[in-house]
Amino acid sequence: MAATYCEVALPVPLPDTFTYRIPEGLAQPCVGGRVIVPFGARKLVGVVTALAAEPRTTKGLKDVVEVVDSEPLLPPVLLELARWMTEYYLAPPGEVFRSLLPLHDEFARSERARLRPLGIERLNELEASRSENDEYQLLRRLEGGKTRTIGRLTSGVPDGPRLLARLRREGLIEIVPEVRRRAREGKDEEVAPLLFEGDWAAAAPPVLTGPQQRALEEIEGLLERGGFATVLLEGVTGSGKTEVYSRAIQSCLERDRTALLLVPEIALTPAVAELFVSRFGDRVAVLHSGLTPRERSTEWWRLRRGEARVAVGTRSAVFAPLEDVAVVIVDEEQDASYKQAETPRYHGRDTAVVRAKLEGALAILGSATPSLETSYYARNAKYRLLQLETRVADRPLAEVRVVDMRAEFQETKKVSLFSRALVEGIEQTLASGNQALVLLNRRGYANCLLCRKCGATVQCKDCSIALVYHRGRGRLICHYCGFARTPPKACEKCGSEHIHYIGGGAEKVELELRARFAGARIARLDRDVAQVAKRGAQILRQFVRGELDLLVGTQMIAKGHDFQGVTLVGVVSADGILSLPDFRAAERTFQLLTQVAGRAGRGALPGTVLVQTYYPDHYAIRAGAEQSFEKFYEQELRFRRLLHYPPFTALANVLVRDPRLERAVQWTRTLQDFFGRWRGAAVRVLGPAPAPIARLRRNYRFQFLLKSPERRALQELLGAAVAYTREREVPPGALIVDVDPLSLI
Ligand code: ADP
Ligand code: ZN
Ligand code: ZN
Repeated sequence: MAATYCEVALPVPLPDTFTYRIPEGLAQPCVGGRVIVPFGARKLVGVVTALAAEPRTTKGLKDVVEVVDSEPLLPPVLLELARWMTEYYLAPPGEVFRSLLPLHDEFARSERARLRPLGIERLNELEASRSENDEYQLLRRLEGGKTRTIGRLTSGVPDGPRLLARLRREGLIEIVPEVRRRAREGKDEEVAPLLFEGDWAAAAPPVLTGPQQRALEEIEGLLERGGFATVLLEGVTGSGKTEVYSRAIQSCLERDRTALLLVPEIALTPAVAELFVSRFGDRVAVLHSGLTPRERSTEWWRLRRGEARVAVGTRSAVFAPLEDVAVVIVDEEQDASYKQAETPRYHGRDTAVVRAKLEGALAILGSATPSLETSYYARNAKYRLLQLETRVADRPLAEVRVVDMRAEFQETKKVSLFSRALVEGIEQTLASGNQALVLLNRRGYANCLLCRKCGATVQCKDCSIALVYHRGRGRLICHYCGFARTPPKACEKCGSEHIHYIGGGAEKVELELRARFAGARIARLDRDVAQVAKRGAQILRQFVRGELDLLVGTQMIAKGHDFQGVTLVGVVSADGILSLPDFRAAERTFQLLTQVAGRAGRGALPGTVLVQTYYPDHYAIRAGAEQSFEKFYEQELRFRRLLHYPPFTALANVLVRDPRLERAVQWTRTLQDFFGRWRGAAVRVLGPAPAPIARLRRNYRFQFLLKSPERRALQELLGAAVAYTREREVPPGALIVDVDPLSLI
C-alpha cells in the first residue's frame, strides 16, 4: 500500500521533522530521497526520513509539491549516520542533511512575486473600471495564483522597479523565494580539476620499512577478518604514515571495496592528496574547499555511482556517498579542523569512527601526537595501538633546545623577539645554504594597542576582545569578527598620547627578520597571506623547491609538510596558547611543538629546534622538547582524571546568546531554572557564567558547562533542556549546544 504521508527533514534550525501529505497523482517519494515542499511562504528542498499511512498530526498539513528522487539518494548507512548525528549532537535533522548532501547546484533559487488578497481585490476593481494602466498589466500577470520571477513580471513595463516597490508596500503583492529543480546538461562524466599543478612528482612506491610492513600486516589481518575495529596508527613525524594509508587503500580496492581518507587540509598540503591521485588515478575523488558547487556535486555523483571508489577530503568527506566501505582513515586525527564550528557541531574524526562501525569497516586514526581521548582508548583496549617508532631511513628526530627567555633578559637586559641563540642559529643556517622555519602562532604585527596612562586597550566594537594591529594594512583588526578600524592617535578613554603597541605576531617577526638578515629570501605564511587564492600553496612550493631561505608563519607552517631542506626550526614563543583559559591549552601546546619540530631534519641533514619560552619547566614544553608523547600523556591524563575532563568525563557546553543583554540574561535564567530543578542522573552543571569572550559579534554570551561520566545521562539532560527552552519560547538561535566541545572560549 502506498504511503499517504511523509516526514521531511528541512534545512531550518528547528529540532523536528515536518509532516506532509502526498497528493494523489504525484510519484511516490522514498525514504532517503528529496522532495520539494512549501514551508511558510517559501519552498524548500528536504529529505524524506519516514513514510506513513497515518499523519502524526492533522493540523495545517500541506502537500508535497514535487518528488525529486524516486530512488534513495543516500545509502542506508548515511541515513543511519544522520540519525546518530541528530541524537548525539542534538542537531536539527534538516541541518544534518544539509551537511550530508552537497548538491545545492541542482536547484535554482529565485525570487518570485505573487498576488496577496488585497492585490486580487485591486485587480478586480481595475478590471471593473476598465482602466488598463501599467498597474493593471502587472497585476494581471499574476492572476489565478500564478507566480513569476521579477524579471518576467516587469518585462515591457516601463518604470518597473518603482511600481513594484509601491505594490509591495501597499501589500498587493509579495515576493517569495522559490526553489526549482535545475536540469543537468549531461556533463556528468567531467572530473573536477585538481588543485595542484603537478610538480609534486610522484615516484614509484617505495619498499616499506620494517615498522611500516608490520603495521600494514596487522591492518591487512583486520581487513581479512572483516568487521568493525578502530586502530590508532601512532607514528613519529616522518615515519611514513601516508605510505601505510596508501597500501591499506590498495588492499581495499583489491577486495573490490571502497575507502575513505580524511585529511585536515588540502589546499596547503596537496602532496598527500596528490600521492593518492598518482597511485589510484580517477578512482579517487578529491573533495576540497576549492571546488565550485557544480564540481562538488559532480564528484559526489561519481562516488554515488561507484565510478570513484576512494574519497580523499577534509571534514565533510566523512559523508562521501560510497557503499561497501572497508576502511575509513583519519590523518592527523588530533587536528582541530575536524570539529565543525557551526551547527551541526560534529567532530569529523568521531563521526568517521561511527561511520566505520555502521559500515562494519576498519577505522584507522593516524597521528604523531594523538588526542588524549584517542590515546586513552588505544591504551585501554577499546582501540588497537600500532606504533611506528622511528623515521624512515632511520633518520634521527631533530634535537630540541629550550631557550629560557627569563635568563635571556637577565643577561642581555633587552626585550627582543629573538634570543642570541636563535639569531646565531639562523645565521649558521643561511651561511650553510640550508633552510629554516620560524614559528609564532599569532597573526598580525602587535597584539594590542595599550594606554600606558589608564591601562585601556582598544577593543572591538562588537566583541569583548582587544584589536590586533596589522601594520601592512595599517589597521586594527578583530580576529574573531573581522571588524577593522584605523588606530586612534590618543587613548579614547583618557585622552593620553602615551599609547603603545604591545606584543608581537608573525608579521612583526617577518619584518624584523628582513631587517636583520638583509639578502635572505624570506616569506610569511599565515591566514592573512593564504586568503589570496593559491598564494599559500605557491609559497610552500617555492620553499620546497629551495627558492626561499626562511619561512615565517603560524601553525600553518607546522602542518604535515614534508620539507626536505629544513635544518632549523625556531619557535619565537611557545607561550601563547598556554595562557588561554582552556583545558586543552597544554595539549595544544605540546602538539604544536612536536608537529613543528617534526618539520626539521626530514632530509639527509639532521635538524635542530630552538624553543623560546618564559615557562621552560612547564610539562607541555618539556615533553614537547623531548618529543615524548608518552611523557606528556602520563602527566596530562592525571590532570584530566583529577579535574574531571575528557576522556574521563563527557562534556557539553551550553551557550546562551542574544544581542540584547536583558534577553541574554532572561534566557540564561530560564535555563538556570530548568537545571536547578532537574533531578535526573549524574550530571554536574557548572554555571551560568559569562563566556570567556563575554561578547562576540554583538551577542552577549553566558555558558553552562555540563559534565557527566555517563554519556547517556548527559544526552538525556541536554535533550530535556532544549525541549524546555522551546516551550518557554527561547528563540532557537539563542541556544547553542556544543557536545564534546574543543574550545570553551
Ligand atoms: P609522516 O606522515 O609519518 O610524518 P610521511 O608520510 O610524510 O611521514 O613520510 C615521510 C617521508 O618519507 C616522505 O618523504 C615519504 O615519501 C618518505 N617515505 C615513506 N615511506 C618510505 C619508505 N618505505 N622508504 C623511503 N621513503 C619513504
Ligand atoms: Zn588611557
Ligand atoms: Zn569583533
